[in-house]
Amino acid sequence: MTNSNLTTKAEEILKAAKFNCTKAQVLLLKELLISDKPLSREELIQHMGQKCPDTVTVYRILERFCERGLVHKVYLQSRAWKYELGHNCTTKQCHPHFTCSDCGETFCLTGSSLPLIKDLKKGFVIHRQQVNIDGLCPACS
Ligand SMILES: [Zn+2]
Ligand SMILES: [Zn+2]
Ligand SMILES: [Zn+2]
Repeated sequence: MTNSNLTTKAEEILKAAKFNCTKAQVLLLKELLISDKPLSREELIQHMGQKCPDTVTVYRILERFCERGLVHKVYLQSRAWKYELGHNCTTKQCHPHFTCSDCGETFCLTGSSLPLIKDLKKGFVIHRQQVNIDGLCPACS
């Protein structure tokens, strides 16, 4: 995808989710669009490089995106929140993630899904099921 196509795509997504197409929001969304795995705030900032808005702005945008479900927060073995677009998830569950215990690489298992948890004790309210699988990736196994 060319850079201008990517910008158009990012603007479409923002408009559909009723966000303004500010420069910072478009830039951040573009990074999430081209990434095939969830990114931490630090990684996002690093990828945006010189054009990156200040960190407070990045945090605020991510928060807003997450509040409206445009972006999903993923918690992986890295013990830090990572962020990715929610468009490969359903309202009930995120696609599973696979983290390699050898190289530490994380893979999005888009297209794979697991049955939703059953027989949950009374009182628990599920927002979204997220599953993280631990193992060896093709390169390490
Ligand atoms: Zn998700
Ligand atoms: Zn690996
Ligand atoms: Zn993912």
